[in-house]
Amino acid sequence: MSISIKVKEGIAASSWIVNIFEDRSQVVSKEKEVYDFRLGNPKIEPPLEFVEELKRVANNPFPEMHGYSALAGHVQAREAIAKTLSKERGLPFTAQHVIMTAGGAGALNIILKAILNPGDEVIVLSPLYLEYPYYIDNHGGVCCVAETNADFTLNIDAIAAKTTPRTKAIIINSPNNPSGMIYFDESLKSTARLLNEKNRQFGNDIFLIYDAAYQDIVYDGNKLPDIFNIYSNTIFAASYSKPLSIPGERIGYAAVHPAMKNSRELMEALTFANRVLGYLSAPVLMQHVVTNLQGVCVDRAEYQGRRDMFCNALQDFGYSFTRPMGAYYIFTKTPGDDLVFTQELAKEGILVLPGKSFGRSGYIRIAFCVKKETIKKSLPGFKKVKDFYRH
Ligand code: PLP
Repeated sequence: MSISIKVKEGIAASSWIVNIFEDRSQVVSKEKEVYDFRLGNPKIEPPLEFVEELKRVANNPFPEMHGYSALAGHVQAREAIAKTLSKERGLPFTAQHVIMTAGGAGALNIILKAILNPGDEVIVLSPLYLEYPYYIDNHGGVCCVAETNADFTLNIDAIAAKTTPRTKAIIINSPNNPSGMIYFDESLKSTARLLNEKNRQFGNDIFLIYDAAYQDIVYDGNKLPDIFNIYSNTIFAASYSKPLSIPGERIGYAAVHPAMKNSRELMEALTFANRVLGYLSAPVLMQHVVTNLQGVCVDRAEYQGRRDMFCNALQDFGYSFTRPMGAYYIFTKTPGDDLVFTQELAKEGILVLPGKSFGRSGYIRIAFCVKKETIKKSLPGFKKVKDFYRH
């Protein structure tokens, strides 16, 4: 058997995840209850509006309802998104600036496919969504990691140090997975100033790919800055996975700034990428369903309640972290090696991911999009392992 060397390396690089987490029998005894905080796979059911719309669409079939859609997606869905974007951002978005995708991951992949030449560099910020390096590599790009500050705010100097004449794009994810950080106006404006300066210096047009997977999962009344009004060479990668709690349905979209130079050519490239990457188009039934669900979101208060319950308890136990402002992850420091700490938690039936997998050792990521009961029952285990390190 001969598989790709790169794929072999990719599997090997994540083999410790598989060993520790997939084969639970090695670390979690059979009698122990398992509290699984590894994945951002929400245990909160989709909102009623989604269920009703799904039923409405299913009960009103029309010819070719399940046929291929246009490669860029149904025009009604794209128009609905463009209308919402225009209203929110005060910019003239039309269906011509929006393409339906197979989730946020599909959006990121068609964007990278559309813009990258072999060897082009893409800056990502650490700690990072663990799939970015693979997605960049999928399309011949080189992943350049810039660290964020210790408190996970943007480090403009670190980004500047990674910006070269080969820089094609930077990916910014806010609210952030895994840190829960929101990047506010000033730091995004500083980033935009830096990119504009580098564009002038290198004669480039660096793309800012804004990964908005968690744009609706925001706490404490925080407001997200409008990236489109901060940097015009922005491509937006959005998803319905998290707001509608439907990650298995694979639906999202990409949107390009209406004032972007060559936006028509870029849309053509995105559409081509959707085709040749084998998506052809986004899942068609879901395109119909989300058309009328712009702005609909699961009850954020449910997540905020879980965040507070979890954070308060972990704080009492002596864990050290920045309370997440959005998304649904707690990224907390570990006393000692994060891999060992992860294994110690696993002995208590608690499964989390080590910071190493997000490019920052010395942390663990805890996904709190689970049932309240799971959080409650896991707390003694979190306390026990932390106490053990105290002595
Ligand atoms: N971006 C980030 C930061 C994520 O955490 C995820 C999923 O967890 C995605 C993109 C992709 O999500 P999906 O493809 O389900 O929309």
